[in-house]
Amino acid sequence: MKTKKCPMCGGRIKIYYDHEAGDEVYCEECEREFQLISLTPIRLDLVERYEDHNYRVNEY
Ligand SMILES: [Zn+2]
Repeated sequence: MKTKKCPMCGGRIKIYYDHEAGDEVYCEECEREFQLISLTPIRLDLVERYEDHNYRVNEY
């Protein structure tokens, strides 16, 4: 397992060896979610949750 420094708060983000590009990981400190863009080097993209929330509201 590797850890990546969170670009938002400086906390730890765990990257497991079975993670692949496109997987979602999260920061232990601020609990933001990130999508893995690539593993070598590790690149992360912040996942915004606002759209997901609206999606759930529409679903139910
Ligand atoms: Zn963070």
